[in-house]
Amino acid sequence: MQRITVGDFEVTLIMAGAYHWDGGALFGVVPKTLWGKQLPADERNLVPMAFNCFLVQTGNHTVLIETGGGDKMDDRARTRMKLPERIETLPEIISREGLDPERIDIVINTHLHWDHCGWNTQVSNGAVRPMFPRATYYTRRQEWEHAHERHPRDAVSYIDANYDPLVETGQMKLIDAEECEIVPGVRTHLAPGHNRDMLLVTAASGGETFCFFSDLVPTIAHLTPTWVAAFDLFPLESIEMKTRWLGRAARENWICGLGHDCQVGATRVESTEGKHAGFKAISS
Ligand SMILES: [Zn+2]
Repeated sequence: MQRITVGDFEVTLIMAGAYHWDGGALFGVVPKTLWGKQLPADERNLVPMAFNCFLVQTGNHTVLIETGGGDKMDDRARTRMKLPERIETLPEIISREGLDPERIDIVINTHLHWDHCGWNTQVSNGAVRPMFPRATYYTRRQEWEHAHERHPRDAVSYIDANYDPLVETGQMKLIDAEECEIVPGVRTHLAPGHNRDMLLVTAASGGETFCFFSDLVPTIAHLTPTWVAAFDLFPLESIEMKTRWLGRAARENWICGLGHDCQVGATRVESTEGKHAGFKAISS
């Protein structure tokens, strides 16, 4: 577990288990001879991906960013992704870290792909219940609308039971603004690339800033702006957004949270010059 002090806020990394995904899909046009050194693949070319969530305690609010993969996938998907037989629920994992899941009053989903909002709800005997009953959930309205378009390219990434029941009861609020302050110091920012409407989340206090990069920077290997996943819908925008937001993170010494890295949940970054211009992790 990683606990980070950000001004008056405390940010805790919650690694909610891991799944496995095709390494080629994760690195798009980058040759395996390059990415394979940074993230070794198994015999099926799969690489491990953590479900990284972050809990931000502001003093007045307890904000959960992302809810991991959940338990709604079928047996075939579980086998394909090498998921364990019994999946611990996110409230169980949070409790095990010594934190009280009942205190969570805000949940933010950066987008609605199943691996970011899976523990929003749990389905048992056909009934859907919110996993964080006290919380108001937030995501971007256009992302929720896109989920319902059922586009053949990415319909497989969406499971409606993760969000529709919450939208119906009003427990999930849909954000329209490009920037939105959810509670004092905690903001969402539109950052298209992975898809049209993905959000970044910043938590700023006392001159320090934590930024959750979600799938804009899923692993530390993706700090290089041109190392973009094949499943990003708008790769040129991913490069532009990474350059803009990681540039700001380097200049202002932000702590960057990564969506799926199994080793490094959060890191500060610095700019690199020359042939490999981009960004690299620095230890704080
Ligand atoms: Zn993801």
